[in-house]
Amino acid sequence: MMSSDRKVGVADMITMSEIDEIGINQNLYIRYISDIIYTYTGSILIAVNPYKNINIYNKEHVFKYHTCKLGDLSPHVFALTEAAFTSIVDDHINQACVISGESGAGKTETTKFILQYLCTITSNISSWIQQQILEANTILEAFGNAKTIRNDNSSRFGKFMQVCFDDYNCIKGCVIQDYLLEQSRITFQSEGERNYHIMYQLVAQGQKNIHIANAFHLRPPDFYKYLNITSTEQININQESMKFDAVTMAFTVLQIPQFVIDGVFKVLSSILWLGNIQFLDIDGEGCDFSNSDQEAISYISNLLGLKRCDFEKVLLIRQINVRGNITEIPLKIKEAVENRHAMAKALYSRTFTWLVTKINNCTNPGQDGATFLGVLDIFGFENFSHNSFEQLCINYTNEKLHKFFNYYVFALEQSIYKQEEISFDHVAFTDNSQCLEILEKPPRCVFKLLTEQCHMPKGSDSAYLINLHSEFEFHPNYIKGNDRRHWETEFGIRHYAGSVIYVADGFVEKNRDVQQDVLFHHMSCSEDMFVKDLSNYQDHQYISSSYSRGSSKSKCTVSDTFRHQLQSLIDVLQNTKPWYVRCIKPNLTKRPNNYNHSLVLDQLKYLGVVDIIRIRREGYPIHLSHEDFIVKYKCLMKDKSVECQHKYVTDILETVKLPKTEWQFGKSKIFLRSVVHQLLENKRKENV
Ligand code: ADP
Ligand code: MG
Repeated sequence: MMSSDRKVGVADMITMSEIDEIGINQNLYIRYISDIIYTYTGSILIAVNPYKNINIYNKEHVFKYHTCKLGDLSPHVFALTEAAFTSIVDDHINQACVISGESGAGKTETTKFILQYLCTITSNISSWIQQQILEANTILEAFGNAKTIRNDNSSRFGKFMQVCFDDYNCIKGCVIQDYLLEQSRITFQSEGERNYHIMYQLVAQGQKNIHIANAFHLRPPDFYKYLNITSTEQININQESMKFDAVTMAFTVLQIPQFVIDGVFKVLSSILWLGNIQFLDIDGEGCDFSNSDQEAISYISNLLGLKRCDFEKVLLIRQINVRGNITEIPLKIKEAVENRHAMAKALYSRTFTWLVTKINNCTNPGQDGATFLGVLDIFGFENFSHNSFEQLCINYTNEKLHKFFNYYVFALEQSIYKQEEISFDHVAFTDNSQCLEILEKPPRCVFKLLTEQCHMPKGSDSAYLINLHSEFEFHPNYIKGNDRRHWETEFGIRHYAGSVIYVADGFVEKNRDVQQDVLFHHMSCSEDMFVKDLSNYQDHQYISSSYSRGSSKSKCTVSDTFRHQLQSLIDVLQNTKPWYVRCIKPNLTKRPNNYNHSLVLDQLKYLGVVDIIRIRREGYPIHLSHEDFIVKYKCLMKDKSVECQHKYVTDILETVKLPKTEWQFGKSKIFLRSVVHQLLENKRKENV
């Protein structure tokens, strides 16, 4: 017998009549220590990360859940996926699985289980596309994941994967949208963290294979400044090189030709060499290369197919275009160092977006109109000791999704009560509209003021901060700070999940889309087809966007682009049937069998789980149409002939002597509280 079949704790917490947050926590705990990591709250799935392999994901399990209804078997991500898939088959409605949780909670693993399930149950027919979808993930993971303190395989970008189905409910393709790849990681990693996986995989492969080393001018891992190899961060050459093989294999499955794959690796190697250029200061006015830089420069020029003199120039000189006249200004050493980092970031993030587009070209289902099942795997709420622009974007995302969730769980529930004309008390919930307004509502909001600064030639972080303070000082969601020391450097936002203090330093620079136009111009003359292609390559296309960039004269800033992407995501989600997976991290040390109650409680609160239980408890968790009710509970009556539905339902309720406060009669449905539902269920079971 499988452990998940044992009855431990309560499988659906919505059916518990007397429950508070301590009860929820205790229930999850009891299940967790028996290796039962999934629990429902109605149709919302809670998953506690086990940090160990549990044998519940093999093919046998897939087929066990296939064709079963949600709730028939023990809670599982497969059951949720099956329910979403069934809804596609039966109702032809688009579905979206929204997966949330903090870093390391298990979002990406959950995404993979969902894809694995879909690909397995549909795979007898067109298995090539299934394989491509799974391999697309291999590539995205190699290029977009890295080791962080919180998660050894942390996704540093958000993604929305739409798996598309044809009229016969077979998978016919997949469309991926990526969000905000973390760029700072390419040039700097904190202690105990790493650069993107692919960097180590490539360098490790160079150690194993001399041809690769020669072709891409590769050196040992500890040679590179960007790889952060310290005595504690050694790399396992064999393991990384095996993963490298898996990535090349994935490229092949996605029909990316060998010369293009080589082009990608040339760019990666160039990025690594860029990190090693040191520069020499010349009288504080400009800079030049040191002797040891010569090797790096010739290798990069060679790898990217640039003229050496052109490349040297972009490293040392800034060109400014004033109404058609190009002025050249030598970079001071500090500027040259920063400019070089900016090049590395631009090259990497373009490569990443290029890959996403290529994958989409390959897996794109073609004509529109297909139904899809979308899976959203996106960064959770973040509140660190130092929060910057990235955290603001991430927390903004979570505000948007929380509002969407609120609407789904609360507003919808209450609108049903209204529609059915039953009386109810308004249930309060954490409405975050005000917080969203301060962040995004035009004309004056946190993001607009930032963009305004970025469009000014002398825009600065401190001017931005002054504008913020004067605009929002008295806004209930704004925190100015109590003393000068704080308000001159930071501002705070009261998010639904807690207050976060943001350090303004770097906001303006990070929000400006650093283009590296000159470098890409030179790259457009390269003989390497991939490098050339990369230079023409303009940023994202959106899945379904009502916005267009580039038409306006002023450049879109990073946050503009992101806001538009996020809005199109919400627009897409709004037209789907949503399914929620709330991932929970039981401890901070990535250990199995270790459950920290207070850590879990915090997550339950801001993931809205406590609220859901409350609204359901205060409201009526069970909704049954009159017909369904009669079908289910007819067995309790001696007289089985139904003349008037309404009367028959009332008769049942009276026969069972249910307290009047515990149920209500709606226009088409009957609403029950959990206690009476349980009572009815017990009686029914006695009678069948
Ligand atoms: P997130 O995407 O939320 O940051 P991940 O999905 O990458 O987190 O999960 C972090 C780690 O936790 C994984 O690398 C894996 O080791 C472990 N993990 C997560 N979910 C499971 C699961 N269902 N079973 C076993 N291990 C898991
Ligand atoms: Mg992840």
